[in-house]
Amino acid sequence: MEKRASREADRLQEIVSLCKRRGFVFPSSEIYGGLNAVFDYGPLGVELKNNVKRAWWDAMTRMRDDVVGLDSGILMARRIWQASGHEEVFTDPLVDCTNCKARFRADHVAEMSGDPNVCPNCGMRGTLTEPRKFNLMFKTYMGPVEDDAGLIYLRPETAQGIYVNYENVRASMRKRPPFGIAQIGKAFRNEISPGQFIYRTREFEQMEMQFFINPDSEERWFDYWRDTRIQWYRSLGIKPENLQFHPHDADELAHYARAAVDVYYNFPFGWREIEGIHDRTDFDLRRHIEFSGKDLSYFDDQTKQRFVPFIIETSAGADRTTFAFLADAYDEDEVEGEKRVVLRLDKRLAPVKVAVIPLAKKEPLVALAHSVHDSIRALGLTQYDDTGGSIGKRYRRQDEIGTPYCVAVDFDSLDDQKVTIRERDSMKQPRGRVPIAELPAILAADLAG
Ligand code: ATP
Repeated sequence: MEKRASREADRLQEIVSLCKRRGFVFPSSEIYGGLNAVFDYGPLGVELKNNVKRAWWDAMTRMRDDVVGLDSGILMARRIWQASGHEEVFTDPLVDCTNCKARFRADHVAEMSGDPNVCPNCGMRGTLTEPRKFNLMFKTYMGPVEDDAGLIYLRPETAQGIYVNYENVRASMRKRPPFGIAQIGKAFRNEISPGQFIYRTREFEQMEMQFFINPDSEERWFDYWRDTRIQWYRSLGIKPENLQFHPHDADELAHYARAAVDVYYNFPFGWREIEGIHDRTDFDLRRHIEFSGKDLSYFDDQTKQRFVPFIIETSAGADRTTFAFLADAYDEDEVEGEKRVVLRLDKRLAPVKVAVIPLAKKEPLVALAHSVHDSIRALGLTQYDDTGGSIGKRYRRQDEIGTPYCVAVDFDSLDDQKVTIRERDSMKQPRGRVPIAELPAILAADLAG
């Protein structure tokens, strides 16, 4: 058991160091000593995360007729957070250690130190205070005067931006329930105990979809979205054994939810939530009706029924899911007696789609390799890899960042105008030599397949 835990800790460490070394994720403000629980995405990380977000956006909006997109502001009227209940109840229980002054989320202490009465930082027993409520919303001020009248929040979720635009979207897009609104955007939470790399941070991105329905179809749509969402992770290559549902018991349910199920991923540090599917009933729209005085009910002229739509929400974190895709793809094997690290990312998610590798830095080989590279740029992000080392070493470096295909341009290419395509997973070149003229079409088909 202990051995397994240390293997998993090593694995987490390997992933974190790969992310730093190869330009996926950097600690924020690093040259100034860092900023706790904020991370920056490097050149490959931004591609990976964008690919995750694009895959979600396509599946949730473009491939469907019943969901449309939105991009609402991060700053919103303070009344919204009073209506939603966030100002009052978006709190976590905070405990202080009177000995070392460290602070923890009360419900995390037992897992961190093995005992709910022992401080996870200094190890003292009985030094933790009674829990008190700590609101997780970041405050700021609108306008030049820092007083209560100007107080606003950085949004802690993107969902409220959708609810307050519900009527705008419905009317302008001529939609009728059931239909959904999807949004991807930044959210901010002043987490008490952030951690585990990009799993829990204070600034993060959410991919949320709110589906507005007739109350009598509540159960059907909840089941539908629960199944559709877990399938999305599987369709992008996450191993089914690393995914599971975690239904909420009555005492775990948030104040707005009648039913909730989380999608859990088997991270190196244990099973954790990556997405929540919530039946929010008519709580949100009713509260906004109450606080704004606007009628948000819907009249169905076919059934002659008037109702306040119920909402089924799917709420995923872009960073957490990116982390899950990375962790699931991370693999090590052995090639010619040496360890090979390979990210077995789905081709749609891989940051670099194809690398062109010239065998030597000599003309006219270099000119040919550049023209090969130019011919395939439209396939997505591609790389011209003339970093030093043998071709085998360069293949390994591409494996480590998950590049599905490497095109080798060698001296024979100058005569036969052909190149080889080496595959990441099999490390083989199953097509032999392929004509340069056909390369873009062949790679486009392989990347789509
Ligand atoms: P947790 O219990 O882990 O704090 P939550 O249940 O509060 O999460 P939700 O409010 O349901 O989370 O948010 C939906 C999704 O947003 C989560 O499943 C997660 O993917 C993402 N998310 C929430 N908080 C964070 C955070 N601090 N850092 C990164 N992602 C987050």
